[in-house]
Amino acid sequence: MEHNIGATMNQSLDEETVALLALDFGIEVECKKAKRPEEELKVELEVPSKTADLVSRPPIVTFMGHVDHGKTSLLDAIRKTNVAGGEVGGITQHIGAYRVETNGRSVVFLDTPGHEAFTAMRARGSQATDVAVLVVAADDGVMPQTEEALNHAKAAGVPVVVAINKIDKPEANPMRVKQQLAKLGLVPEEWGGKTGFVETSATTKKGLDELLERLLLEAEILELKANPKGTARGVVLEARLHEGRGVVATVIVQDGTLHLGDPLLCGQASGRVRAMYNDRGQAVTEAGPSYPVSVSDLSTIPEAGEKFYVLKDMQRAKGIALDRQKQLREAGLKERSHVSLENLYTKIEAGKVKELKLILKADVKGSLEVLENMLEELSTGEVKVRILHSGIGSITESDVILADASDAIIIGFYVALEEGVSGLAEGRGVEIRHYQVIYDITRDVKAAMEGLLEPEKKEVVTGQVEIKQVFKISRFGNVAGCVVKSGKINRNSMIRVTRDGAVLFEGKLASLKIVKEDVKEVRQGLECGIKIAGFDDIKVGDTVEVYEIQQIARTLS
Ligand code: GDP
Repeated sequence: MEHNIGATMNQSLDEETVALLALDFGIEVECKKAKRPEEELKVELEVPSKTADLVSRPPIVTFMGHVDHGKTSLLDAIRKTNVAGGEVGGITQHIGAYRVETNGRSVVFLDTPGHEAFTAMRARGSQATDVAVLVVAADDGVMPQTEEALNHAKAAGVPVVVAINKIDKPEANPMRVKQQLAKLGLVPEEWGGKTGFVETSATTKKGLDELLERLLLEAEILELKANPKGTARGVVLEARLHEGRGVVATVIVQDGTLHLGDPLLCGQASGRVRAMYNDRGQAVTEAGPSYPVSVSDLSTIPEAGEKFYVLKDMQRAKGIALDRQKQLREAGLKERSHVSLENLYTKIEAGKVKELKLILKADVKGSLEVLENMLEELSTGEVKVRILHSGIGSITESDVILADASDAIIIGFYVALEEGVSGLAEGRGVEIRHYQVIYDITRDVKAAMEGLLEPEKKEVVTGQVEIKQVFKISRFGNVAGCVVKSGKINRNSMIRVTRDGAVLFEGKLASLKIVKEDVKEVRQGLECGIKIAGFDDIKVGDTVEVYEIQQIARTLS
């Protein structure tokens, strides 16, 4: 009570209070913390399998590539042709992945093609894919998303096999595809490189067997092994609430064998495996390495990309799941600490960062090339600068997800953000930096690597406004009729006008009105009229980005 704490006789006190009280009594107290269930789990899971128990497991494959190049068609064509015939209801069920057989060996395909899903899983700490198939249409060649997909696969360190698809088309030009990809580092084997290229057609089914053979070869090179005798662990591919079956999750077993009745821990969810179905919709009692199955019934819906483990008893699984829920609540909005230019030096000193990973977006190809070279040259013996992805155009969600999954910083040079990207980056703790001068970028990165970065003035996007109409008013200029898409705009805001991702003008407003009234501020969802000071070249569809310069003290976290 002297300490102003109204605790009852049997209430626990915190460590600090105990130490204070003990001092009063002249007693020395040593606090030993019980291990959190999570830490115990870590120890338990670290037990390696005996080499003798390891057997080869089928490769798990994701299709990636530019839109309309045939990812979905190839998935379907392989599914229809190679799913072992003769089985009851030979048609596969959509459970997030399916398994095909060729000459007695299996390959597993993830049902969600594209690098976005792939990287979103990585952002949650999992990687289900062993090999990526980069689909490039033979008539279209390498497109921006081909390059983006390749960079996502590279960032994950996943080997790539190229499917030159639509080879049946008269205008197909596989040679051009090979030349384009060779420039990006995927050199065909016949040219002395290491990458497998297979010519395919989802329409005529040409090359599908060859593609499967190539995937099996990659699996051999990777020496994919697992222990079917071990307890199961793996990744959640998708999960939803199913009427009658409760929470159903499709999981892919990466090691061990999953049995009916096993106690499962899966993110913040737990539960006993009550029913298990394979990709043919058949009820099964066990699932070995690389096998996709849908399992029920879990306590809550886990997220795609969440890891799952089988534990010895249900009580523990439940306990850890609850502990995780509690931890998450306690952490609340505590920021996730990705690398940023401010904390880079501290992380280098602590030995946590050996590579500074960057994603570069610029308005034109020329600036990108210059930037890439200048930044890579900043590498030192201690820290290597690695450009994970670079591209032309605005900063997209996919960039943020890649940065989140790979602990990278995004640098934008004369480019804007796509809608919603600013919020996503904030939520994921990903740093986005905007620049208008190349020298400023290299100066900041160099200073950050040396721990000499000045207290930072950071730009924060606080609103996005879309121009819906343009009114010409003689002697006054052009006034924009707008809607505030996100955040807000103030009369004194700093703004920039962007069109198709490129910055056209930076400056301030001359006026801000709602109908005819001058106002100080307009918030999300409302319409307003703005006149931009000193800039009249506005068009319908342009975006007015509102930003603030915030002074950020260097943090030591
Ligand atoms: P995705 O966006 O990469 O999943 O592409 P889709 O699989 O949806 O295919 C896009 C379009 O290309 C569809 O109209 C397909 O019918 C067509 N297509 C896909 N593969 C082939 C092919 O091998 N040959 C031809 N001629 N057309 C194809």
